[in-house]
Amino acid sequence: MESCDFLIIGAGIAGASVAFELAPHGRVIVLEREAVPGHHSTGRSAAVLTQNYGNSIIRRLTLATRPFLEHPPDGFTEYPLTAPRQMLWIAREDQKAGLEATLGEAQRLVPTIRAVEPAEAYTLCSALRSGYAAYAILEPHALDLDVHAIHQGFLRGLRNRGGTVVTNAEVVRFQQTDASWEVHTPDQQYAAAVVVNAAGAWCDVIGQLAGARPVGLVPKRRTAFTCHGPAGVSPEELAAWPVIIDSDEEFYFKPESGGILASPADETPMEPCDVFPDDYDVAVAIDRIQKATTLSIAHINRRWAGLRSFVPDKTPVVGMDSECAGFFWLAGQGGYGIQTSSAMGRTAASLIVNQHLPQDLTDMGLTPEDLAPIRVQAERD
Ligand SMILES: Cc1cc2nc3c(=O)[nH]c(=O)nc-3n(C[C@H](O)[C@H](O)[C@H](O)COP(=O)(O)OP(=O)(O)OC[C@H]3O[C@@H](n4cnc5c(N)ncnc54)[C@H](O)[C@@H]3O)c2cc1C
Repeated sequence: MESCDFLIIGAGIAGASVAFELAPHGRVIVLEREAVPGHHSTGRSAAVLTQNYGNSIIRRLTLATRPFLEHPPDGFTEYPLTAPRQMLWIAREDQKAGLEATLGEAQRLVPTIRAVEPAEAYTLCSALRSGYAAYAILEPHALDLDVHAIHQGFLRGLRNRGGTVVTNAEVVRFQQTDASWEVHTPDQQYAAAVVVNAAGAWCDVIGQLAGARPVGLVPKRRTAFTCHGPAGVSPEELAAWPVIIDSDEEFYFKPESGGILASPADETPMEPCDVFPDDYDVAVAIDRIQKATTLSIAHINRRWAGLRSFVPDKTPVVGMDSECAGFFWLAGQGGYGIQTSSAMGRTAASLIVNQHLPQDLTDMGLTPEDLAPIRVQAERD
């Protein structure tokens, strides 16, 4: 039996960020079922940070993460974690009123977000089809993220702080004793006072193994693919295009490594699994993008899908279980787990160690109750 203070289940971005933050406070072990951390959602994202996305709690968690990603601590990374990227929401005439209505909320937290005339939208992305967009909103200071560098930075930082990541270690059973948890993998047993459930799409599976009430997590498949950039557009011009996103999130695309990354922004509910893309979703994205732009997508270079896991209020679940002492939830990162990673890791560690939120999040008006698991847990039968 190996003992530690904090045992974390899952080495995606959620598990890695909380492990990094907990390591100065005690011995941390992270158990990851796969051979390589990042195999699931964390390795499959679109790698964008936008402050005009999600509900007001997500927006504050994103604001509180941005400074860390732009100015990580010494030794965290050899490479920049972010790069400038604009983001442009476009609306057809029939979507215009809906997008206009979102501007006020967007500007409340980020005053630089502004409406742009369709003519300006075309100068930002020359592939937009003339007459398609009736209204647009520009976020000038969104960011591209280097997800691999962020994830590896947390994991390397954890190891430098004395923590351990064990791969090929699927948690299959829990046993609670008076003062601690015994956690079983097929090869080893671990004991810890605190278990952190950061198992992504499997958080409710892990919760139920531990005897906790489920939080109602629904994993939803999202598809993405890459293709060549358009003929006649220079690499420099393409690289400067914003992320173009439909105002009702029916598709998005952005420049990526000299080509284009695109998605139909699908949200198909699934059981937790190693998810694969469906050709139909790729075809839907191509159809929608070709209607909105002059892009002609004839060949897909790479396609993939990942799970974005939500509880009903689309707010993450971060907090100690009210019935299972020492069982801590870090779940429901949805489509925002990378751009909220630092705030989520700091919040989880602070709640575990001090029972309160980090000061920057308190100053933004967040309370532990906003994130607490009990708000979404089902009643016992
Ligand atoms: C197509 C797509 C685009 C996205 N774009 C963005 C974006 O632009 N910006 C952004 O911020 N977010 C984006 N996201 C969302 C983001 O990827 C997720 O919110 C985030 O990766 C979730 O991280 P996680 O650590 O919770 O889950 P995961 O990365 O899935 O990690 C959970 C880990 O737990 C492990 N595990 C599960 N069960 C067990 C067990 N029994 N024992 C041991 N280990 C276990 C799994 O193997 C897995 O590695 C996107 C997602 C998708 C799919």
